[in-house]
Amino acid sequence: MGILDGRKGIIFGVANERSIAWAIARALHEEGAELAFTYAGEILEKRVRPLAGSIGAKIILPCDVTKDQEIERVFQTLKGEWGGLDILIHAIAYAAKEDLSQPYLQTSREGFQLALDVSAYSLTVLARQAAQLMEGRSGSIVTLTYLGSEKVIPNYNVMGVAKAALEASVRYLAHDLGPRGVRINAISAGPVKTLAAAGIAGFKEMLHYSAGRAPLRRNIDAEEVGRAALFLVSEMASAITGEVVHVDAGYNIMGM
Ligand code: NAP
Repeated sequence: MGILDGRKGIIFGVANERSIAWAIARALHEEGAELAFTYAGEILEKRVRPLAGSIGAKIILPCDVTKDQEIERVFQTLKGEWGGLDILIHAIAYAAKEDLSQPYLQTSREGFQLALDVSAYSLTVLARQAAQLMEGRSGSIVTLTYLGSEKVIPNYNVMGVAKAALEASVRYLAHDLGPRGVRINAISAGPVKTLAAAGIAGFKEMLHYSAGRAPLRRNIDAEEVGRAALFLVSEMASAITGEVVHVDAGYNIMGM
C-alpha cells in the first residue's frame, strides 16, 4: 500500500535519468501513483520512453510548452484515458546559453521573452489545463525553482528573473485554485548536476561554494527533491499551498 495509491499524475521535464523530474517520478511511483510523461522533442523521446516504460507508464506524449496545441492535446488525452488528474509536476526551464554567461545587462528582448515563456508562463497554462481535470479530486501541483529568484547568483541572470516570476505565479495560482481545492507549491532546490545545470557558466563552482557554506555542509541530491515533492503532493501537506519550500541543505538561510 502506498500513500498515492489510485492517484494519477503527469510529469513535465524528464530529459534523462539525471533529471530532477525523474527523481520525483520515481518517488511518486514508489508510493503507488500512476504517471504520464511528456518530452520536448524527438531526441528526448528516445531517452524518456524507456525511462517512463520502466515504471509502467502508458501515456508518453510530445509537448513543447511554447506550443498551445501540443499542451491541449496532452490534457485531452489525459481526459480521455483517465477522466481526471490528481498531480502535475512542472520541472521545465530554458534560457539561451549566452544569457547564462554574459552580464544580465546584455539580455536581449528575444532572450528575455524565451526564458520567461518557457520557464514561468508555462506553469500558468499547464495549471489552467490541469485544474479542469482536478475538479473534486484535491489536486496538487509542484514546480521547481532556484535561489537565483531571491538573490543574485552570478550567471543565473535572466533565469533568476524567470524564477522570480514563477514563484509569484505560484502565489497567484494558489489564490485562484484554492477555492477548487487545488494546491500549488514550489520547491527551491539547491544545485544538482543535470543537463539544464550544465548550461550555466561556472556551475561546478556553484556546487563547491554551496557545499562549503550550507549548514549541512554538503550538496543535495535529486532524490531529496523527489521526497519533498512526494510530501507536497500527498495528503500530509493538505494545508500547504502557495509556498516555496527550500530543499538546499539550508544554504538560503546564510548571510555570511
Ligand atoms: P533537465 O533534466 O535538463 O530538465 C529540464 C527540462 O526542461 C528538460 O526536460 C527540458 O527539455 C525541458 N524543457 C526545456 N524547454 C522546454 C520546452 N520548450 N517545452 C518542454 N520542455 C522543455 O534539468 P533539471 O535541472 O532537472 O531541471 C528541472 C527543473 O529544476 C527546472 O525548472 C530547473 O530550473 C529546476 N532547478 C534545477 C536545479 C539544478 O541545479 N539542476 C536547481 C533548482 C531548480 P529539453 O532538454 O528538450 O530542453
